[in-house]
Amino acid sequence: QLNVYSFGNKKADGGRDMKNLLGGKGANLAEMSRIGIPVPPGFTITTEVCTQYNEEGRESVINRIEPEVRAAITRIEETMGAIFGDDENPLLISVRSGARVSMPGMMDTVLNLGLNDESIKGVIKMTGNERFAWDSYRRFIQMYSSVVMGLKPESKDDLDPFEEIIDHLKDKRRIEQDTQFTVQDLQDLVYDFKDIVKKRTGKPFPNNPWDQLWGAIAAVFDSWNGDRAIYYRKMHGYPEDWGTAVNVQAMVFGNMGEDSGTGVCFTRDAGTGENMFNGEYLINAQGEDVVAGVRTPQQITLLGSQRWAKLAQVDEEERKESYPSLEELMPDIYKELFEYQNKLETHYQDMQDMEFTIQQGKLWILQTRNGKRTGAAMVKIAMDLLKEGLIDEKTALMRIEPNKLNELLHPIFDPEALEEADVIAQGLPASPGAATGQIVFFADEADKFKNSILVRVETSPEDVEGMNLAKGIVTARGGMTSHAAVVARGIGKCCVSGAGALKINYKTRTLKVDGHEYHEGDWISINGSTGNILEGKVGTKEPELSGEFAELMELSDNYATMEIRTNADTPKDALIARNFGAKGIGLTRTEHMFFEVDRIKAMREMILADTVKGRKQALKELLPMQRNDFEGIFRAMEGHPVTVRLLDPPLHEFVPHQLATQKELAEELHISLAAVKSKVAELEEFNPMMGHRGCRLGNTYPEITEMQTQAILEAALKVKKDGITIKPEIMIPLVGTVEEFIQQKAIIDVTAEEVFKKRKDTVEYSVGTMIETPRAALIADKIAEKADFFSFGTNDLTQMTFGYSRDDSGKFLPTYLEKGILKADPFEILDQEGVGQLVKLGTQRGRETHPGLKVGICGEHGGEPSSVGFCQKVGMNYVSCSPFRVPIARVAAAQAVL
Ligand code: ADP
Ligand code: MG
Repeated sequence: QLNVYSFGNKKADGGRDMKNLLGGKGANLAEMSRIGIPVPPGFTITTEVCTQYNEEGRESVINRIEPEVRAAITRIEETMGAIFGDDENPLLISVRSGARVSMPGMMDTVLNLGLNDESIKGVIKMTGNERFAWDSYRRFIQMYSSVVMGLKPESKDDLDPFEEIIDHLKDKRRIEQDTQFTVQDLQDLVYDFKDIVKKRTGKPFPNNPWDQLWGAIAAVFDSWNGDRAIYYRKMHGYPEDWGTAVNVQAMVFGNMGEDSGTGVCFTRDAGTGENMFNGEYLINAQGEDVVAGVRTPQQITLLGSQRWAKLAQVDEEERKESYPSLEELMPDIYKELFEYQNKLETHYQDMQDMEFTIQQGKLWILQTRNGKRTGAAMVKIAMDLLKEGLIDEKTALMRIEPNKLNELLHPIFDPEALEEADVIAQGLPASPGAATGQIVFFADEADKFKNSILVRVETSPEDVEGMNLAKGIVTARGGMTSHAAVVARGIGKCCVSGAGALKINYKTRTLKVDGHEYHEGDWISINGSTGNILEGKVGTKEPELSGEFAELMELSDNYATMEIRTNADTPKDALIARNFGAKGIGLTRTEHMFFEVDRIKAMREMILADTVKGRKQALKELLPMQRNDFEGIFRAMEGHPVTVRLLDPPLHEFVPHQLATQKELAEELHISLAAVKSKVAELEEFNPMMGHRGCRLGNTYPEITEMQTQAILEAALKVKKDGITIKPEIMIPLVGTVEEFIQQKAIIDVTAEEVFKKRKDTVEYSVGTMIETPRAALIADKIAEKADFFSFGTNDLTQMTFGYSRDDSGKFLPTYLEKGILKADPFEILDQEGVGQLVKLGTQRGRETHPGLKVGICGEHGGEPSSVGFCQKVGMNYVSCSPFRVPIARVAAAQAVL
């Protein structure tokens, strides 16, 4: 197997299927070369070499790959007709990192490598442009020193050392712009730069191009273990052993004059998914200039340009004059680019994100990849590609990352509130959504407030962690393809970019616009769909399931075999879940109903009563309230099944713990404070989660079970009168022995008979149990003989199987995750290896004695895609999750079948 794969000249050693070995960028460069798209020739050093580098160290790896790298450079030299480091006709190259998936945390690209005191002469000869040559040289030193040699500003408000030298020279020469530097100035900069590199790093700037190349290759490999990359891997759960590839490629120059340029484009809109070719470019610019947001980029298409001008409040004349589209400025190049984007999208059958450079009228494509997109765009593009016949239904479904649907379920601004809000400034709608928060100016301070909006001149890869913590992002510079915009769309954050009117001052931590001044901590709202920045907090409302999203849901239901239910304790939640397509309630927690002010009193009275009679008296007060709650829920569900769980938490949770409230309670109940205190003390448990709770309550205080059963069934009878047929499923919690279940069920059945007799009417009901203790899973066959259904309560089951207290695990789980003792938080992602075995076993054993037993899950895991997949494998009938996860579970359930 090769260590180095070459590409270029319509040929390639590799191809698109080799992402694991060549990284995404390398595999796609090879593929493009194969299908006849013009890419500058180059080669890719494999990710396996990266892994070896991490194990063996630099020297041994470089020795091993050196012959292949030298041969590959020779191939580039032949194709380009240039020689690496030559003083007549030098080859310059770029060194680019590229993991399997694109990672903004990786090493920055080094451009113009190969420039030195000799090859600069060749560049001058070849281009006849001394200014261009020296400017490239000084940029190269700047880039290489910071990226490869680690020369960075000393603190966050310190200037970049090179910028300091540049500013100093500008002052001395009394000029304002970089472009006013003379050739002599640029030459001086090169020498001054080399000086400061030597001073700050203790090493001279390497003049030998091969030293430069090996340094850059090693830096790419090292960046795999840099802080940013590690953070990004963690955030996305990418394994450490993937490694990154290194791409080395002949330079093409977008900064060789007015017939040159560089840009970024998308085959469809990455924010909305709209099927519209779009992108941005800059004339006479190189590399990251577009992404870094240094100059205001121009739109590629005429339509895009006109849309942009409207938002930026640029009139048509000025637009044509100063910001023309590529379509207008270079129609032939535009046509060619349009063809390539078409070809690439059809070839990859997905929205592409491409980078290109125009060198003196010749177009080169530097990169293509499946474009990052918002949740909304993900849905629209998948459904559109399906309609266009480019992909089939299964592929469309598999294109959906269920968790990304979350973005579509976030609140949106209430149109009425928007109308009234004051617009502070207008930027570009870089990543849709609504966000309200307090201003912060530094990414590492994004956690300063609970809701923060990160406001920056521009963002850079160092900021990704903070961008992730912020509720939204605003930049003063940069376009729709700026770093901020791309990252925000990728992580589904609302973002407004390029709001040029904002004057940001990092030192004073203020933001000035139109004579107003805003400070750190001030509230603003941003609308990522329109680009508006608004003053203060703007009201929001729930989103709706419509358009492509609704179509996707329908498609999912066609494939899914499991039913999706919801966990809902109130009619309001039940309604939200129904609107999201829940086909029933898998868990109604009755205790939440007791916490309301007027009810908790009756509840406390019940708990404090010393006699059965006293308890029954208090329960009588609770009965109508519970009945009302159930009635509301049953009505909301309009005949869909509803599972109600009997009282579960330890009673201690309901009594007052503060002296003042204890006094109040004593007065209300006409008992002594001492009596209240002693009851509270009596209820105190060392280990409440394993204490007096679940069916242990109903078995010690049967009157609670009686009251709850009565409330459930009377509510069902009541809605029956209005034509709503509900078959309540009564669920007994925390069963560990068969007898626990049998005795509770007996109480339920007797109560039911009484209710039916009294009301002279009946409803069907069933009695099942939660499987949430390991013992219940183990004796599931015996329980199933008596139970009508099972619902796995995987929150408690996880707690009891691991022996991790859910309420205390915060003390050690983060460390466990960091040290790799655990791969994931088991309360978030079902532990299939351990807890999952109990789920599987419980289901199997249950169905041995009770064929066709209905089985579901109602823990947090019911809405987590990988856990939903597991439930399918185990053969569950349904999963139940919180209302806002219902759409996610619907897609996950469909994917689980495919
Ligand atoms: P990223 O992974 O951050 O996108 P890239 O490796 O794509 O980094 O490099 C960033 C930019 O540098 C590219 O978009 C392109 O503009 C420029 N670049 C990289 N290689 C070359 C090259 N061989 N010739 C000209 N420009 C290049
Ligand atoms: Mg790139």
